[in-house]
Amino acid sequence: MRSAFPRLLSPVTVGGVALRNRVVMGSMHTGLEDRDWHIDRLAAFFAERARGGVGLIVTGGYSPSREGWLSPFACALLTEADAHRHRAITDAVHAEGAKIALQILHAGRDSEVPISVSASAVTSPFSAFVPRELTEEGIETTIADHVRCAELAKLAGYDGIELMGGEGFLINQFLAPRTNHRTDRWGGSTENRQRLAVEIVRRTRQAMGPQFLISIRMSLAEFVEEGQTFDEIITLAKQLEAAGLDLINTDIGWHESRVPTIATSVPRAAFVRYTAEVKKHVSIPVVAANRINTPEVAEDILERGDADLIALARPLLADPDWVNKAAADKADEINTCIACNQACLDHTFTGKFVSCLVNPRACHETLLQLLPTRRAKRVAVVGAGPAGLAAAIGLAERGHRVELFEADDKIGGQFDLARRVPGKEEFNESIRYFTRKLELTGVRVHLNTRVTAEELAAGGWDEVVLATGVRPRMPDIPGIDHPMVLSYPELIRQERPVGKRVAVIGAGGIGFDVSEMLTAHGSTALNLEEWQQEWGVTADPQAPGQMTAPSVTPAVRDVTLLQRKSGAFGTTLGKSTGWIHRAALDAKGVQQVGGISYDGIDDRGVHISYGANHEHKRVIEVDNVVVCAGQESVRDLHAQLVYRGLPVHVIGGADEAAELDAKRAIDQGTRLAAAL
Ligand code: NAP
Ligand code: SF4
Repeated sequence: MRSAFPRLLSPVTVGGVALRNRVVMGSMHTGLEDRDWHIDRLAAFFAERARGGVGLIVTGGYSPSREGWLSPFACALLTEADAHRHRAITDAVHAEGAKIALQILHAGRDSEVPISVSASAVTSPFSAFVPRELTEEGIETTIADHVRCAELAKLAGYDGIELMGGEGFLINQFLAPRTNHRTDRWGGSTENRQRLAVEIVRRTRQAMGPQFLISIRMSLAEFVEEGQTFDEIITLAKQLEAAGLDLINTDIGWHESRVPTIATSVPRAAFVRYTAEVKKHVSIPVVAANRINTPEVAEDILERGDADLIALARPLLADPDWVNKAAADKADEINTCIACNQACLDHTFTGKFVSCLVNPRACHETLLQLLPTRRAKRVAVVGAGPAGLAAAIGLAERGHRVELFEADDKIGGQFDLARRVPGKEEFNESIRYFTRKLELTGVRVHLNTRVTAEELAAGGWDEVVLATGVRPRMPDIPGIDHPMVLSYPELIRQERPVGKRVAVIGAGGIGFDVSEMLTAHGSTALNLEEWQQEWGVTADPQAPGQMTAPSVTPAVRDVTLLQRKSGAFGTTLGKSTGWIHRAALDAKGVQQVGGISYDGIDDRGVHISYGANHEHKRVIEVDNVVVCAGQESVRDLHAQLVYRGLPVHVIGGADEAAELDAKRAIDQGTRLAAAL
């Protein structure tokens, strides 16, 4: 059969290394790297992606020295004993036909250790320590550390290395005037700032010979003030090629950038133009990355000649079989990464192991398995939101006979709401995936069916899974039933017209989403041009850090966001995405009023009290009020089912509405499916 993605799946030789296709699994720090005793779990994680068809895997970043640790005792490759332990990883990946490179990451000033070093003594927002400016001798040692790490990687069985040259880590700290204030031959001019990167590549090539893959991850757009210009980045690419580099992998931004680069609101393949431009200036292959999550997008990039390979990171957390499914012309079966960051980056930033919201097995491959059942049961799942869907397909995959009952005329639950929020269109992919998976696993789906306890009792089910979700909380405020008041589902589904002045009650994740939606000008399509203008991104090759003044499209409504608690707004939002939502509301001029109580709602608007003893009164005059005050569990059936003696399991929002959370819902549904 002819593949729908011939370029993506065509073999390529990079340096001396033959790859079976053009899919690179981009580096991700899972947390498993940091402790030796997790190496078998890490090997299983990589092996599953290798089995899934990936051509080249890049590991998470290992430091070449203790000074370069990301945090105390974080992963490093320093000794031959370390290298021997890595055999578990390289052997497992090679057994599945993929190649693997070790990423070498020296954190520089971002290191959270007191012995941190950098180009200059410029503090990082991510570390409490002032880095020591490297001496000339220290720079020589740092280069030697990188070369030694590459040698150890070879001893460990890796096919090559990737140097972390972007994201604001050590090599990048030398490259950019922002962090390199030196006046010796390692700072000042472009050539001097690029010397460290070039020397590391040159000496690594000398030491490793021609067959060992040497790649670099370069931030092709830095999105920070006093960053490199794009012209400098082109020069760097050419210098590195001349020094013996085999491959350039795209990176975008620094960790401290205040331009979103991988959030779900970033248009797909938004940064490919940088990769395409670099490709024009070098003859070694270049890899496109960031917000590429479907084989169609990947194939288009290769077909246009914008890149030679495609890096996927989070999409391979979401679906380890991404490549095999594309190859088998089953792209509609891919569990697509929705760029939510909730179980990957947010976990990294809070010290947890990485996983995936849509695939809770990610990084738990040896612990959470959907093995064939020895006794097929008849299972009724009530509710086709994320929890019910995950349970239904997991159970059916194991061989149980599953029927799914949904009161609505469609599946999706809270995902069906989320997908309608501008910038969250990726949730459509999850609904497409679940729809297809229900077909493939043979789950019988009953839409428009509000099943009763009597019917369930009469059905003779071995197990009943209650995943009936939540209903929006309507707080007990005088006038809450005024015609100007909408619930957030009514607003998101655009069921009623909304005036120009709107108050939003409740500033959780949904209050923020709703406020963004109210200020946006209608279209839900992700628009690259507008997005670049709003975040101050420029194509000017001489602009430091590719930044310019943002130009925000004015809000179409006056929105006031309200919360009862005092203090900052948006503190419960995701670690890696909360700042984006806060910045978006600030840019659109959304008023944020906290530390209040609600006195009532009438024709004028929302009456509030504020002050230390709520002694001051005010009316926020609006045309409409949207209530985003959280949710309450819907589990009316539970007591009736227990009363009838049915074995019932409550999951998702029906179990716990307080933290209505798709990550927990899917995880809980999958774990139940694995256990029954
Ligand atoms: P939420 O985060 O619990 O926020 C609801 C807000 O309503 C609270 O901040 C609370 O603030 C207010 N509230 C609660 N009870 C109230 C009452 N009786 N009267 C008036 N106000 C009341 O809930 P959500 O916004 O519905 O979000 C639910 C979940 O969805 C989140 O936990 C998150 O996992 C997910 N989500 C996240 C995002 C995101 O991160 N971007 C977006 C959408 C959804 P005060 O008590 O201070 O007024
Ligand atoms: Fe993608 Fe979200 Fe999964 Fe991270 S948690 S891999 S962003 S779907």
